[in-house]
Amino acid sequence: MEQDLIVVGSGNAALCAAIAASEKGARVLVIEKAPEDMAGGNTKYTAGAMRFAYDGGEDLQDLLLDPKDERLPRTDFGAYTAQKFRDDLLYFNDGRPLSPEQDKLVGRSLETMKWLAGHDVKFEPIYARQSFEKDGRLVFWGGLTLAAEDEGVGLFEAERAALLRAGGRIEYGLAAQSLLVEDGRVRGVTARREDGSTVDLRAQGVILGCGGFESSRELRHDFMGEEWEAARVRGTPHNTGDGLLMALELGAARHGLYSGAHATPMDRHMKEYGNLDIPHGDRKNYRKICYFLGVMVNAEGKRFVDEGKDFRNYTYAQYGKAVLDQPGQFAWQLFDAKTEDLLYAEYRFHDAHYVQADTIEDLCAKLEGVDASAALDTVRAFNAAVDDDTPFDPTIKDGRQARGLTPPRSNWAQRLDTPPFRAYPVTGGITFTYGGLKVDDAGAVLRPDDSPIPGLFACGEIVGGVFFNGYPGGSGLTSGAVFGRQAGYGAAASLSPAT
Ligand SMILES: Cc1cc2nc3c(=O)[nH]c(=O)nc-3n(C[C@H](O)[C@H](O)[C@H](O)COP(=O)(O)OP(=O)(O)OC[C@H]3O[C@@H](n4cnc5c(N)ncnc54)[C@H](O)[C@@H]3O)c2cc1C
Repeated sequence: MEQDLIVVGSGNAALCAAIAASEKGARVLVIEKAPEDMAGGNTKYTAGAMRFAYDGGEDLQDLLLDPKDERLPRTDFGAYTAQKFRDDLLYFNDGRPLSPEQDKLVGRSLETMKWLAGHDVKFEPIYARQSFEKDGRLVFWGGLTLAAEDEGVGLFEAERAALLRAGGRIEYGLAAQSLLVEDGRVRGVTARREDGSTVDLRAQGVILGCGGFESSRELRHDFMGEEWEAARVRGTPHNTGDGLLMALELGAARHGLYSGAHATPMDRHMKEYGNLDIPHGDRKNYRKICYFLGVMVNAEGKRFVDEGKDFRNYTYAQYGKAVLDQPGQFAWQLFDAKTEDLLYAEYRFHDAHYVQADTIEDLCAKLEGVDASAALDTVRAFNAAVDDDTPFDPTIKDGRQARGLTPPRSNWAQRLDTPPFRAYPVTGGITFTYGGLKVDDAGAVLRPDDSPIPGLFACGEIVGGVFFNGYPGGSGLTSGAVFGRQAGYGAAASLSPAT
């Protein structure tokens, strides 16, 4: 046998598992379904931002790519305590208590970042998006402080380099298709090559790090409901739930919220999957999340969410689903010229779709698929309900409502009254799924009676119970690293001493 362990997938979670197992002396083979240029899964589409608990700037020192950065002496990183991280996760739990997986995510977040840094995966402060300048100092807000050098692509490259240094191997264009079981233990995989031929790869154990099922229309329909079938996929086309199905077939328990997914409003005319060919900074530009500055209407011309319920960080991962729940599964976001400067760059993206008019009547008439007169009534009613006595302030929850509407409008309400008016068509884009497998403290996949399936481990998006109705940004990668490292150590410890 050439390898002790097979790791399925080459995203952040799988690579962390592979590095951890190699560190313990295991001979590891990573197999990746995609060709080399598409390896790295959703990880490569990210900004590389990772959320973790820390008590102050000194906790970050060992993580930094450039500890001599001249900005550091005048930077206030503040603290992002474990309790604050827990509270931020609880905010999205719809009343559920903190799950054991969430508790682990928080408790091991800093040590896992330090572990990554120890493998030369280094990070940079996210000055541009997560800090502001105050009295000459650079002050971070929101608890999300560091990102990998060169974002998701850089994270993938750094982790891959760490794995190769540790003696691991990677083969691309090789998709795990089924698990090989001998004497009740998982002992490898049957994998399919790009030419359609198959190969049996034997090992003492298998770690599934091959993502969720967000890229499979069929599984979205079956596990989540019909409304998810037409969702756009924000990332890789390759996360089609292969590992999940293989594990379920062996009797693994389903765990977590299968009906749940991270999903945001996206340009209705984007392609079915994310696009790695467009430059880094542009990859998020199909997203459209400034609805809190305008009015969002469905095909019936009606509003259907409180666009200003909270800061967009706390609503954007849910409002993709809200759009998918609408007739025809689309909506339009309407703005006037007052908000032009406040809209994120994604609204100025060269491939952003929109219509423009000089009157609100003409704008409503241009909203394809929408009852124009109902939309006009909605905007007029909205304009009439705006609370002019409260000043507009997008830096705080300003309480500037549109009074008496259903659904309510809680913050940042401004009349649509200044031409030119613009409207952007959106649909729901799925980022990743929340339902998955249950794992124990060694990362072993559990059956419904909580007994482990010998030789089978899992990490990353495929682990359920970590997220429910949303998450604080940057938690997905940290979760992949925490549960990846756990699975790597657990799988390595399960190897028989004879190897
Ligand atoms: C556009 C976008 C932006 C995001 N931004 C952030 C962010 O800034 N911060 C953050 O924390 N999270 C972010 N996320 C979420 C984050 O990408 C995921 O949480 C994380 O990357 C998942 O890691 P993973 O290793 O589990 O899966 P992935 O990185 O998706 O890796 C899974 C891998 O498995 C491979 N695979 C699938 N099936 C098989 C098979 N049968 N055999 C072999 N290989 C297989 C896939 O090809 C893929 O390479 C973002 C996601 C998207 C789509």
